[in-house]
Amino acid sequence: MLNIVLFGPPGAGKGTQSEKLIEQYNLVHISTGDLFRHHLKNETELGVKAKGYMDKGELVPDEVTIGMLEEKVNQHPDAKGFIFDGFPRTAPQAEALDDFLSGKNTKITLMLALGAAEEELVKRLLLRGKDSGRADDSDESIIRNRIKVYNEQTAILADFYSKQGKYEVVNGVGGIDEIFNRLCIAINQLAT
Ligand code: ADP
Repeated sequence: MLNIVLFGPPGAGKGTQSEKLIEQYNLVHISTGDLFRHHLKNETELGVKAKGYMDKGELVPDEVTIGMLEEKVNQHPDAKGFIFDGFPRTAPQAEALDDFLSGKNTKITLMLALGAAEEELVKRLLLRGKDSGRADDSDESIIRNRIKVYNEQTAILADFYSKQGKYEVVNGVGGIDEIFNRLCIAINQLAT
């Protein structure tokens, strides 16, 4: 299986690149942000739980997020692999993911980190907020809080995967296809 964690701060382009990667490599895309937004829209119990955190740009508690992620993976028993987008975001999530995958006799192949400077991220997210109507993209202070939460709680995962020899940085600035090519090169190197 090819299991990729697509990593990077809010606005790094994970969603956009995930859509291209799943086509290229025939993978299943799992975005915890999209899953939460789906629950929110349908006003499920989980959506109600998540809303307060999302509105503030904070992380939803691990136990809620991990349960939701595992349930989604289990819905795809025949997948050739997965792109994890927006997950894991904390050390407990990364550990839970390793345990969960090893229970299925598989593992994370690679973490690909998309990098971009904070001002570029804020600019992209404000622009996205205008089109998407996403509340957490329409307010600069919430955007900056998400980036802060990323720096404080999520960025450490670079170390977690580095230690496993699975961490690769890809420049996230440039055209969509240019960045996609960089990601493909990193993935294709695995096979050689
Ligand atoms: P972005 O990466 O642009 O901030 P996402 O769509 O990935 O946006 O996530 C939106 C919100 O959903 C986050 O701010 C957070 O509240 C919640 N969320 C998504 N993934 C996770 C996760 N793995 N752990 C905790 N909360 C999450």
